[in-house]
Amino acid sequence: MLLEVRNLQTHFKIGRKKTVHAVDGVSLKIEENEILGLVGESGCGKSTLGKTLAGLQPRTGGHIIFRGKELPQRYSVADFRRNSREIQMIFQDPYASLNPRMTVKEIISEPMRLQAGGGSSDYGPLVGQWLERVGLKPEHMARYPHEFSGGQRQRIGIARALILQPKFVVCDEPISALDVSVQAQVISLLQELKETLGLTLLFIAHDLSMVRYISDRMAVMYLGSVIEEGPSDEVYFEPKHPYTQMLIASNPAPDPALERSRPHDPPKGEIPSPINLGEGCRFAARCPEAMPHCHTETPKPKHTDSKRMIACHLY
Ligand code: SF4
Repeated sequence: MLLEVRNLQTHFKIGRKKTVHAVDGVSLKIEENEILGLVGESGCGKSTLGKTLAGLQPRTGGHIIFRGKELPQRYSVADFRRNSREIQMIFQDPYASLNPRMTVKEIISEPMRLQAGGGSSDYGPLVGQWLERVGLKPEHMARYPHEFSGGQRQRIGIARALILQPKFVVCDEPISALDVSVQAQVISLLQELKETLGLTLLFIAHDLSMVRYISDRMAVMYLGSVIEEGPSDEVYFEPKHPYTQMLIASNPAPDPALERSRPHDPPKGEIPSPINLGEGCRFAARCPEAMPHCHTETPKPKHTDSKRMIACHLY
């Protein structure tokens, strides 16, 4: 087991009485060399969970155990230096996540410089190797981010995340800002790097088909908690939780003829506010199968077999 998350909570206070439950009681396990896909609608807490695991957001409660050791609730500078060698993050927006005033060489070598506490070492040869590794050219290192396309910028972000050779990488929607043809290239690159470097990935995305394609297991998040989890193919082709069923039904089919002929039944209504959540199933207001006790009793996660978990009173 590389990473275990137990009852993780990340809350944000708004004023005196209101609390946003962005992540609220998430438990997950990620095995070494595995890709866990995390899906859910916008605002369900996926990115906050990713940032909390990467130490960029302090947690409110719960435990994160990485390689047998509990990670601190709030990182100090020393914690960042120590843990960033093993846990890194690839960000969603390749435009906003690269400093426009820094050259590619400065951007990719920054984690090395921070680890060394500054200094004047020349990381040029190493940066050149990483640029080739991610499909760019060593001569690109003197250029600035605005001279690259979105896909090339994401490759620079990937090189920056991997230069310290971490064990675990949180990929926070790394392809959602890219063109479809470029998405496939970036996914192939991530798969190849995962195999050759022995990486473990948390792959956060909207695109369920892409998550099924790249991930070994899939976890579905709704309003701060994981409501279904299991092997990617099983969750995708045999979704059990009503929310997962609606999410998958709303995913476009790649074949235009099939897409035109199939019934469309996207999830109805909006995700309720994550402020001051009460008891009961959080999906109850939108669920076509809701029963009276769904509104008052919170469903506990149940393991239907050794691989599947569902949090729903139907099971
Ligand atoms: Fe629907 Fe009830 Fe299951 Fe929630 S617990 S998903 S409301 S059936």
